[in-house]
Amino acid sequence: MMCAMAQRVKRAFTYRFYPTPEQAEQLARTFGCVRLVYNKALEERSRAYALHGRGVSYGESSAMLAAWKRTQELAFLGEVSSVPLQQALRHLQAAFTNFFAKRAAYPRFKSRKRSRLSAEYTRSAFTWRDGRLTLAKTGTPLRIVWSRPLPEGAEPSTVTVSRNAAGRWFVSILCEDTVRPLDPVEGVVGIDAGIASLLVLSRPIPGVTDAVGKVANPRHERADRVRLARAQRALARKEKGSSNRAKAKVRVARVHARITDRRRDHLHKLTTSIVRENQVIAIEDLTVRNLVRNRRLARAVSDASWRQVRTMLEYKAAWYGRELVVVDRWFPSSKLCSACGAVAAAMPLEVREWVCAACGATHDRDVNAAKNILAAGLAER
Ligand SMILES: [Zn+2]
Repeated sequence: MMCAMAQRVKRAFTYRFYPTPEQAEQLARTFGCVRLVYNKALEERSRAYALHGRGVSYGESSAMLAAWKRTQELAFLGEVSSVPLQQALRHLQAAFTNFFAKRAAYPRFKSRKRSRLSAEYTRSAFTWRDGRLTLAKTGTPLRIVWSRPLPEGAEPSTVTVSRNAAGRWFVSILCEDTVRPLDPVEGVVGIDAGIASLLVLSRPIPGVTDAVGKVANPRHERADRVRLARAQRALARKEKGSSNRAKAKVRVARVHARITDRRRDHLHKLTTSIVRENQVIAIEDLTVRNLVRNRRLARAVSDASWRQVRTMLEYKAAWYGRELVVVDRWFPSSKLCSACGAVAAAMPLEVREWVCAACGATHDRDVNAAKNILAAGLAER
């Protein structure tokens, strides 16, 4: 008998909000200070690293920040909440930890143009009362569009405010939430990224895939692409430095943001259904996938989307008591007959369906690959 243990997990809930002019002004100033502190601390750390080959601790950075605030030219740092500035130092600390552990490249400066504008507030820097969120130094509660409710009794622990290139404001609220494992199911599934479809499953799931197991690209995707191409063409026609060009730029950013949002929503729905319906889920590791796939192929699933799918499957499987197996060993998934194990001689990309010479089974190329990934995953457990 399996015991369904509820677990406490941290979940982020993101909403749009509409700042008052005062809030917008204060937050924009905070973003600027966050960037400045991050860059200055990075400069100091780089100097210490270059001169003495040593790291700088978070405590030392924090003392530097206190000293900067006491100088005349940086006194304005004291006009924004100190917490987002401290958090910037913590993020830098984490970036260096990853660098020294060889998990990441050397930290880079935050540029005015390329970097995401954001500020992170921990518990001491906001109040949460009667469903109203007020950030330090902003005075009034944020006007949040509650597109979905926070979980019952949720206690926000961290709040991140950001503004994207399209000028939209978002607040991401990290909460403790209780998730309960789902009842065990019999289903097992292998997942591959298809060529003409978004994902290919080793078996069909009603309401998720078509009759053979393919998940089509969402219908809105094509229209969004057309819209993006149109916005980009309009931008290219605008004169450099003109206000019309700035407007066209915002329009392009807006379409981009919309595509990203819609894709993420779609992937959330898909991964939740897959996790619900299956006890074991097998996927191929991205590095393995890249070994096999032809880079010139117009892939239905970009590496970024695939990484998102994997991350979502990982944490949802952990929440709901499912098992995710990542197959990291290479095998000829397209050429291998999932029915008898015979390996076909060649499999040019244009071959969408084939008949195994050894056993006579007819295979859809992509579904067959997904079945092989499932078999490899089950063998690897
Ligand atoms: Zn066969």
